[in-house]
Amino acid sequence: MSSVIQPQLLRRMTVRRVLELLQSNGPSTRADLTRLSGISAPTVSKAIAALLDSGLVEEGEASAASLGRPGTVLRLARDAAQVIGVVVDARECRVSASGLDGQIRGDLVESFPTPRTYQTLIDQISRAAARLMERPSVKTLSLGMSIPGLINRREERAVFSPNLHVTDGHSPAVDLSRRLGIDCVMYQETHALCLGERMFGGPEPLDDFVVLEISTGLGLGVITEGRLMEGHSGLAGELGHVTVVPDGRLCGCGNHGCLETVATDSAFARAISEQVGRPVEIDEAVSLIRDNVLRADDELRRVCEYLAIAMAAAINVFNPATLFVHGRLFDAQDGVFEMACELTRRRALAPSLADCRIQRARFNKSQGAIAAAMQLVLDSLGPMVGD
Ligand SMILES: [Zn+2]
Repeated sequence: MSSVIQPQLLRRMTVRRVLELLQSNGPSTRADLTRLSGISAPTVSKAIAALLDSGLVEEGEASAASLGRPGTVLRLARDAAQVIGVVVDARECRVSASGLDGQIRGDLVESFPTPRTYQTLIDQISRAAARLMERPSVKTLSLGMSIPGLINRREERAVFSPNLHVTDGHSPAVDLSRRLGIDCVMYQETHALCLGERMFGGPEPLDDFVVLEISTGLGLGVITEGRLMEGHSGLAGELGHVTVVPDGRLCGCGNHGCLETVATDSAFARAISEQVGRPVEIDEAVSLIRDNVLRADDELRRVCEYLAIAMAAAINVFNPATLFVHGRLFDAQDGVFEMACELTRRRALAPSLADCRIQRARFNKSQGAIAAAMQLVLDSLGPMVGD
């Protein structure tokens, strides 16, 4: 490497490292950051000055927890800078804003039914995002999108979504960037959930984990050795379209009997719809059971039987330290998640299972979209230490 570019590259790496430490540790003093980064104090100081200058980081008062070492702490900008997260779901879109700490404020969220045409979709998202960007003295750094279905990340194009066709063949992040004049990025929704778990999951670094998302479709996101596994062009993780019921129900992808036709919130809502004789969405299905209006033990068990196949496959194939499962049907009654875990135990390879902690996902799709926006900010700062 040329000695001319090295100092600049090192500076960018330090800037990024300091940001990551603030993200994983929360507000920290200069001394904390120097110690945690293992980088020399003058180099860290320069990076902090650059971050304060750019508005990505702000100074605050030390909290009571750090008594004994009074003084200012540094934290990710909450007030002066924001990122925008956009979730496109089969039925609803949500546009929200958060400071760089990832906390979404309730008054900075807008939602609307997912429009039927692409043009209207982009119009409505643009309008909602523009309203959030109008907040006085707040700089908007980037926008992240969470989109269902297959996304070709190399071409920045939504290829095909079995359950939502409005984005098929389009490049919403490119179009929004043109409209709004800020950097925009889109991720497949399960991949965005992975970024959320990794970015906002706390100080313990998560380097090998899997997120299984079972809302409308069934998607898999894999972080291995700290990196998102996207495949050749971003299409990896479509476990939902593996056949488990030959000649089963027609799937949105055109195949029959795919896992996602039997192991998702939608599959469960469909079973409840048949029971009550009218269309019921997952939220209502969950309420009906929670309020003891109906019982659905057999339906829950059947969905969990298939879900266990998906969970065991994720454990056997990827050997994750943690498997996060993101689904609403677990709220229907106590013990449903535990039942899915127990059924998984019967299907997964014992050594792989013994190595894996299974838990419900901690973050929602909006936080995933915010994490995607944050990732874009981090990527613009250059490579990570160790890259
Ligand atoms: Zn399918």
